Amino acid sequence: MLYQRSSQLFAEAEKVIPGGVNSPVRAFKGVGGTPIFAKSAKGAYVYDEDGNRYIDYINSWGPMILGHAFQPVVDAVIEKTKLGTSFGMPTELETKIADLAVSMVPNIDKIRFVSSGTEACMSAIRLARGFTKKDKIIKFAGCYHGHSDSFLIQAGSGASTFGTPNSPGVTQGTAKDTLLANYNNIENVKSLFESNKNEIAAIIIEPVAGNMGCIPPKEGFLEDLRQVCDINNALLIFDEVMTGFRLAKGGAQELFSVEADIVCFGKVIGGGLPVGAFAARNEIMNYLSPLGPVYQAGTLSGNPLAMAAGFAMLQSLNDDKNVFNRLENKTAYLHKGIQDVLSKNSIDFTINRVGSMISVHFDKNPVYDFNTAKNGDNDTFKKFFHGLLKEGVYIAPSAYETWFITDALTYEDLDFTIQAIDKVSKQL
Ligand code: PMP
Repeated sequence: MLYQRSSQLFAEAEKVIPGGVNSPVRAFKGVGGTPIFAKSAKGAYVYDEDGNRYIDYINSWGPMILGHAFQPVVDAVIEKTKLGTSFGMPTELETKIADLAVSMVPNIDKIRFVSSGTEACMSAIRLARGFTKKDKIIKFAGCYHGHSDSFLIQAGSGASTFGTPNSPGVTQGTAKDTLLANYNNIENVKSLFESNKNEIAAIIIEPVAGNMGCIPPKEGFLEDLRQVCDINNALLIFDEVMTGFRLAKGGAQELFSVEADIVCFGKVIGGGLPVGAFAARNEIMNYLSPLGPVYQAGTLSGNPLAMAAGFAMLQSLNDDKNVFNRLENKTAYLHKGIQDVLSKNSIDFTINRVGSMISVHFDKNPVYDFNTAKNGDNDTFKKFFHGLLKEGVYIAPSAYETWFITDALTYEDLDFTIQAIDKVSKQL
């Protein structure tokens, strides 16, 4: 494949955009080489500026669960655009999408729309802190909740339970209120509650982690978190930016039958336009401005084009009784296919999957937290990534990302992918 035009465009972009990209993971830093520039996409395929076609397993990092340029979304946005693109006034459509979301997701009465997953998670912890009148939060190493200061925290050194900033610009003062635990380790969480009595407002978690590759919660882990929160009067926040409207109509809460106190959304809920949201039962949501004292706002929040896209997406998912089964079946087929060819070619690997989130770790040991995720062989991943790209299969350019399966994939596409993986894995 030729990448001439992508290379030229990247060189031009680098002059005026830091690193040539508006979000770092797009820069191919983890795998080397020059990012490919997208020109268009339809269904399961994305086309680059050089005219190459790829089967897309990134899908805009999750939103395109029903495929690119999904017709009901495209039509809804075009129609809405004709009526004006933003008003800064309430619109009927905001209530319609809120109603629909509340009907699809368990355990929520009200929802507030924002413009990104970052905003949703940032606002959720402010609400949790305001509601509980406590300052500290627990997050899990390797979980990503957007780039707001409270989340850009890594494990502190030695015996310290405090986190430390993992980006310059995040203050020590902020870091001291974020406590780090290991994913799937309930003892860690319990000991943080022990050593920070009556200080912890909330636990925030990706109920299926997708930002260290795909890592499922161990059996009982989410239930245990629920119990620990109840005992300690802390809130349980599910960051369902990836899992919401993907693992089931009602997301991870429905799939695992565990109730969260606050749920964060992004990605699928906007159908590919910039939308995030957070939701909870009345008692908590009524604490939010203008009803309650916790402030939160947005000039473009509830933007009509974004709401039109999101509504069309949620409606399609709600109306199609089989969509989550189809996604499960397609991903299970891919899972088995990859497993067979990697085994046949004597590659060390672990595949983790929940529903339509799947990732291949190049390590034969179980991957259940950030430390075990880091054991994966990154050199093998780089070769795997570039090999697949050449074959016309586009997976995330980082070993720490999940693949997002779209319903637009056909079984022929999946077979093509498995054959490509067979070919590439012979050269690893
Ligand atoms: N939470 C999770 C679980 C995410 O995966 C992401 C983004 N990948 C975010 C929050 C942040 O969302 P956004 O990039 O829309 O700000």
